Amino acid sequence: MPPLPAPSSSNGTLQDLALRRRFLMTIMAASLLWAGGMIFSSFAGWLSLGRVQEGNTFAFLLVVAVLLFAVRCWPGRFTPIAALFFLAAFCYIGAAQFLVPRDSLRMLLFFPCVGAIFLIFGGIAAWIAIAAALAIFAVAAVTNHVVVTPLAASTFAITLGFTGVCFHVFSVQARRALATVYQQNAALDVAARQDTLTGLLNLRAFREAMNGHFAGARAGDPFALAFVDVDEFKSINDRYGHAGGDTILIAVAHTLKAAVRGADVVARIGGEEFAILMPRTELPDALGVAERVRTEIQDQAFAGAAEALTVTVSVGVTVSRAPRCTVDAMLQAADMAMYAAKAEGRNRVVAAPKGAAGLS
Ligand code: GH3
Ligand code: MG
Ligand code: MG
Repeated sequence: MPPLPAPSSSNGTLQDLALRRRFLMTIMAASLLWAGGMIFSSFAGWLSLGRVQEGNTFAFLLVVAVLLFAVRCWPGRFTPIAALFFLAAFCYIGAAQFLVPRDSLRMLLFFPCVGAIFLIFGGIAAWIAIAAALAIFAVAAVTNHVVVTPLAASTFAITLGFTGVCFHVFSVQARRALATVYQQNAALDVAARQDTLTGLLNLRAFREAMNGHFAGARAGDPFALAFVDVDEFKSINDRYGHAGGDTILIAVAHTLKAAVRGADVVARIGGEEFAILMPRTELPDALGVAERVRTEIQDQAFAGAAEALTVTVSVGVTVSRAPRCTVDAMLQAADMAMYAAKAEGRNRVVAAPKGAAGLS
């Protein structure tokens, strides 16, 4: 049985991007609060940043505000916007090393910045950022803009490196765990839409497929639906056991799938009930397909049965046209036609009355 169409393989990537985008927006909002708080404190006289650092902080605030707006409006531009944000943050923090000499702990600002780069861009970008932070710090120290003892400088370098290692390990593990979760979600999504016995679509997936076809149809496009029910299946179960009955169901599913065109959709929508959606098919053609299905099943020699076993099906067929066709009306009309086939003696194809599933 051919596998179900897998859900988009980019699903995990999209979810990953959405997660990183929300994280980036949180960091940007925190940066805005930080910059706004610094400017407010400076104007209130609680901090003495100096005019140039006030300007630096104000410029950073403006850039972050614009980038936050941009990442909200253009989610598809996430990567360049995130790169610009970290560049702005690095320029701001780097400049602070030279502009605020009275703040002897300003190099600590590199830590959250580097950690955020690990979580958003991963290892390579973050280790480059660590190297850049160390270089900026070294220049500031050599030019006496940062006054530290060699011991304090080495503590800074070692703790920044150690932070990098921790974030590196965590971000690799987190990415692996997320990839596993995305894969499992994709597998669950397939399983939730698949009939486990036959591999066909189940009713839920069949309804989705019908709705998808109807949504993409042009006005007047005909859709045919065949409702296929195995005749006297209970007695097959009674004779061959449930497992024997299952074998018959699998064989019927194979026959149906092989009998229809590639564009048609086959599903198992109940115990011994199957359905075939035939897009852009008029009633005479749909009746022809249904008749072919019926005879192929009737003529099939079922493997495993000790004595000759003839399996037959009753089929109800209905046709409806876009945009009036609905899943419920078509399933109901085809079901009624299938019951009419049963009432007429089984092993036959019956068409639903014209207009039974909406205007035909
Ligand atoms: P009719 O010709 O009127 O359709 O008679 P029928 O016996 O096919 O109809 P009925 O609805 O009375 O019986 C359907 C049977 O299908 C009853 C149920 O036990 C069996 N069935 C449902 N699901 C499965 C399944 O997954 N495997 C097997 N082996 N049997 C199943
Ligand atoms: Mg039935
Ligand atoms: Mg039946």
